[in-house]
Amino acid sequence: MEVTKFTTSQYNANSYLVNGKILIDTSIDTERLIKLIEEKIPIEQIELIILTHCHYDHTASVPEIVKKSGAKVGIHKLDGDCVMDTEKSVSYLFGKEAPEIVANELYEDGDTIDIGSGEKLKIIHTPGHTRGGICLYERNSKSLFSGDTVFSSGGFGRTDFEGGSREKITESIGKIAELDVETLYPGHGPVTSENANHHIQLSHRASRSMW
Ligand SMILES: [Zn+2]
Ligand SMILES: [Zn+2]
Repeated sequence: MEVTKFTTSQYNANSYLVNGKILIDTSIDTERLIKLIEEKIPIEQIELIILTHCHYDHTASVPEIVKKSGAKVGIHKLDGDCVMDTEKSVSYLFGKEAPEIVANELYEDGDTIDIGSGEKLKIIHTPGHTRGGICLYERNSKSLFSGDTVFSSGGFGRTDFEGGSREKITESIGKIAELDVETLYPGHGPVTSENANHHIQLSHRASRSMW
């Protein structure tokens, strides 16, 4: 699996280009993100944008990228309504209306997405940060795209937004802690490229000890 990370600024969400045709999450800084993508590939190559959850910092660039590429958009079915809701998507915190996004694919736990080269991304439903948050697991490279469920070095997502739950995120982290993960691609901050299991264990411990 070939992964390119795009970060438009330190505080923005990470966006990942997978195998030159799938984009996982976007950014608030649409202009900069599109520039970074176009330095790597012609933007029309993007076939699918997968959203790890419905929050504005991950979804804001979707309409513009869809317009330029014709890509489809996928999100877990429980975050499908949140994505265009200004309050639930926390767009209001950024002083914005929710972006206009049509989700073409509504995922459920256990669904798989063919990403070419014989590889698949498996959808793992990980509620707690939002109701329909997902992580994406690729078995051959032991990679996990974790959205805002867990971050490198033992961090985990906020649970105080609408749809959040400390109990659920702890359960969700417990679920991903059982996977064999070497590389962690989180929704914010640095990538962990070795022994990511250990980082996920730290997140699990932290989430259990704080409530
Ligand atoms: Zn985020
Ligand atoms: Zn979030």
